[in-house]
Amino acid sequence: MMAVTDPAKRSKGISAFVVEKSDEGVSFGAPEKKLGIKGSPTREVYLDNVRVPADRMIGEEGTGFATAMKTLDHTRITIAAQALGIAQGALDYAKGYVKERKQFGKPIADFQGIQFMLADMAMKIEAARQLTYAAAAKSERGDADLTFQGAAAKCFASDVAMEVTTDAVQLLGGYGYTRDYPVERMMRDAKITQIYEGTNQVQRIVMARNLP
Ligand SMILES: Cc1cc2nc3c(=O)[nH]c(=O)nc-3n(C[C@H](O)[C@H](O)[C@H](O)COP(=O)(O)OP(=O)(O)OC[C@H]3O[C@@H](n4cnc5c(N)ncnc54)[C@H](O)[C@@H]3O)c2cc1C
Repeated sequence: MMAVTDPAKRSKGISAFVVEKSDEGVSFGAPEKKLGIKGSPTREVYLDNVRVPADRMIGEEGTGFATAMKTLDHTRITIAAQALGIAQGALDYAKGYVKERKQFGKPIADFQGIQFMLADMAMKIEAARQLTYAAAAKSERGDADLTFQGAAAKCFASDVAMEVTTDAVQLLGGYGYTRDYPVERMMRDAKITQIYEGTNQVQRIVMARNLP
């Protein structure tokens, strides 16, 4: 948990603490009703006069914000990987479907309009994969340009996941919109990757401040 320990010092007045769910005064709200990632429960955390001993502070007092920012450089790449996996899954499913579904006497995969959509989806996924893997390698090495690269990978891969999953729903036509097929879930799951670990607007702020 991050808490303001000295309001006068703004971001340098924030400190990080370990808070256990068994600590007196810690409780949780009802599970949120969400658009997607329903396999991952999300609940509000309530703190009611919780007292945390000083030895539960992470690092020095006032370093919480810096710790959070440094951590995000690494964890953003995991969201890029999540987005990439969702996008790849949607492409894989759509690729199989278009070979089976027949309209106008032939598989819809034979139509150039469909082929061009699949080509664009695969191209974007491959670009997202290269950016994500490159950022992951930078995270392992702790490269100096990690902040830009991690934000770029998260932002790009999640935008790709949203586009690709939306196209996958389109490729399945009416069936794509139903829960009988997995792509509508992938589209709903993709949306969160544009929002959490910092919204993609915030990633663009981070990139602009750390241009290569
Ligand atoms: C399912 C789920 C799980 C989550 N899990 C966690 C978690 O485990 N840990 C955790 O810490 N947080 C978690 N979050 C919180 C999540 O990281 C935040 O919701 C997210 O960072 C956006 O913050 P916000 O909701 O306050 O949006 P706001 O800051 O209110 O943003 C609203 C809109 O304004 C835009 N905006 C805000 N500021 C600017 C600006 N300066 N310039 C341009 N646009 C701007 C945003 O991009 C967004 O479009 C979770 C959220 C969800 C939905």
